[in-house]
Formats: sequence, C-alpha cells, structure tokens
Amino acid sequence: MAISSSAARAANRTISVDEALERVLARMRPLPPRDVPLAEALGTVLAEAVSADMDLPPFHNSGMDGYAVRASDVATVPSRLRVTMHIAAGQPPAGRIEPGEAARIMTGAPLPDGADTIVRIEDTDAGMERVEIRVATARGTSVRLAGEDMRAGSPLLERGRRLRPAEIGVLASTGRSRVSVFGRPRVAVISTGDELVEIDERPGPGKIRDINRSAVGAAIRALGGDPWQLPLVRDNAEALRGALQEAMQADAVVTSGGVSVGDHDHVKPVIESMGSIDFWSMAIRPGKPFAFGEIGPRRTPIFGLPGNPVSSLLTFEILVRPALRRMAGHSLLHRPRARLRLADAIDKPAHLRFFARGVADLMAGSVRITGSQGSNVFTSMALANCLIALREGTSRAEAGSAVEVILTDLPEDH
Ligand code: AMP
Ligand code: MG
Repeated sequence: MAISSSAARAANRTISVDEALERVLARMRPLPPRDVPLAEALGTVLAEAVSADMDLPPFHNSGMDGYAVRASDVATVPSRLRVTMHIAAGQPPAGRIEPGEAARIMTGAPLPDGADTIVRIEDTDAGMERVEIRVATARGTSVRLAGEDMRAGSPLLERGRRLRPAEIGVLASTGRSRVSVFGRPRVAVISTGDELVEIDERPGPGKIRDINRSAVGAAIRALGGDPWQLPLVRDNAEALRGALQEAMQADAVVTSGGVSVGDHDHVKPVIESMGSIDFWSMAIRPGKPFAFGEIGPRRTPIFGLPGNPVSSLLTFEILVRPALRRMAGHSLLHRPRARLRLADAIDKPAHLRFFARGVADLMAGSVRITGSQGSNVFTSMALANCLIALREGTSRAEAGSAVEVILTDLPEDH
C-alpha cells in the first residue's frame, strides 16, 4: 500500500482507536496459501474448498451391538430366529439374511444383505445359535445408512474456514493428509531499552527484566502466529536500524519501547528512514505512544508498541491481534463483547478511549476492575479476563452502570 495523502495527514494528528484499527486492517492481506500436513493445520485457515472423496459411512452398518434382522420378523414378539453368522467391525458379511434368520452383529460392522433392522442385545436373550427377540423393533432402527454423514462429492468445508479439532476430523475422514491453508504470520519481536536485561539475568542497578518479548511473543503464538524473538536492542538509532534490517524479512514486525518523544526514543525516526509512518498518535489509555508504518522493500508492516508492558500487551490485543489474524486468513477478527454492570466507578480522561483491566462474571452479568489501574501494574493483566472499554466523551463510568466489555479470554466471534 502506498502511504496516501490521508495517511500523511494521519501521521500528524492524534487519531481515535477506531480510526487506527481501520487504517491497520486496511493494510493487511492474507499470506499466500501453503500445503501443510494435517497434523500442523490446527488453528490455521483453510485456503481451499474441500469436498467428500467418498460416502461416509461408506457402507450400511450397525449402530449397536445386537442382531441384524428383517423388520417383518420382529414386528411381533417374542420372535425366535436362527443366528446364521457373527459379524465384527471390519469384516464383510459372509452371506445374506433370509426370513427367520438373524446375524449377531457388532457396532460399526457392515449390515448383511437382506437385513434392514438392528435389535439391541439388551432387547434379546443374547443367544449365539438361536436368539429370542423380546422387543418389537421398527424397520431401520439402529441402522446407519451409507452416505448418511456425507455423500461423495458433497461440499464439506469452504475456503476461509478456521480449522478447529472438529474440522481436522472432517478433513481426516475424507483422506486429506495434507491441506492448503493460509500461512501463519512469522512476526519479528524486538524489545528496545538500555535498561533491559535477559529474563535469566538478575537485573543490576537501574535495570529491569525484559517482559515484552516474552508476553508479546506468547500473544503472537496464542493467535496462531510464529514469533521470532530478536536480541535486545539498546537505545541508539544504529542498533535499531540494524535490528530492523533483519526483522523486515518477517511478515510483520512488532517492537516495544522507544516510541515516545523522550531523549532516547528512536523508533519513529528510524521507521521513517526505512519506510514510512502511517500514524503514531492515538487517543488511548493506556498505550498512547503507538506507531504503525511499513519498512523495507517488501513494505513489511511494523507496529511500534509502547514499552510499558501493560500498554504493549493491551495495544497488541486491540490493534495488532486483529491485524495478524487477517494476515493469517481469518475473517473473524474481533473478540466477543458483552454489556455488563460495572461494580466500581471508573474515572478517565474524557478525550481518550480508556481500557480498564476487568474480571467479568457472565452469569452474574457484572464486571469489576482488577484493582489498581496504574499502567505500571503488570500483574493486573494476569488477573484480568476482559478489558472494560470506556469510550471518548465521558469522564466517569458510575458504579452500577452498563459498560462495554471485551472478553479477551474467548475466541473471536465477529
Ligand atoms: P518506553 O516506552 O521505552 O519509554 O518505556 C516505558 C516504560 O516501560 C519504562 O518504564 C520502561 O523501563 C518500561 N519498559 C520498556 N520496555 C520494557 C520491556 N521490554 N519489559 C519491561 N519493561 C519495559
Ligand atoms: Mg525506552
């Protein structure tokens, strides 16, 4: 996408979260399809339409352990029949059932010719050579008909379908050991900051452990992407440029930190020098410094998240996650929402979209905040199962009022 004049204007003003999401999504396209083994397809999106290669079940078979009979022989009971064969699952029947005869048959075994009804073992004396049928059984009972589940050639799954365990099973049933799916986004993850140390180090004076590569990397993995963690980047433009040179080979890049207007914030100018910025100021809290642009010859999308770990994970959820899902071929991009009764009042700046970390109780129809909403309290993210979204134009949500809640623990529904 060429950065248009409207984009140029966006780069110079503070835009709403809604506009930011629109701009980001407009830039995203599904990755090219790939052929993958079925075992690796879970969580991806089907890039081809799939139809049945044969009938399922392929043959009429028994839905019960019992006796295959002719319905006319079991219309009145008791009825005594001669057991002429035993049929286990996996075996073709040895012959046909004539009037007065029955086959002892197990679940899944092919129905012998002549039979049209299964009588459950529990409704008989369970005899081996002769059987007494004790319960009148209607024609067709417990018979699974060939093609009842799917017919050869009938459409099963359409392009764009997300592959859950049930869809994987449908693909297996039609013999697909490989399928064409949209690629999983490979996403470069970079943390910037002179204060950061690796997580297996004990931070020295003034240093802190890097949370964001782990948390954002996990968020990428959780949506079906493939995170690629690059080494820590110090607060200098050359180091950042070097890291981005490598990172732009990925399908998308996510950085954290250094995106503000502090003395050591290099992300914006470096993105501009390597490509272009679409916008970098959004009316949101937490998470105000957030940059979106593209870098390199392949115009790799780049998201510059704020360094603050609450802000980075939250803006990832609101803006990056839907974008990467579109890249992965999904058409459902957004988490389910609910209107819930707010337990505690929340104050917020009127001009910003405000997201509070919440604990939703869907049965009770209520939501409470996780406690202190300071954007430096990362543990509150781990307590939350939702985000309470308070729109621009209000400065306070009263206790007892109905608020919009994004259910971040549930899969997308729209
Ligand atoms: P910045 O956006 O670089 O100004 O950082 C904002 C705040 O987040 C500062 O207190 C940083 O120390 C902190 N921070 C930045 N990156 C990380 C990170 N990867 N892990 C933990 N804290 C971070
Ligand atoms: Mg920093």
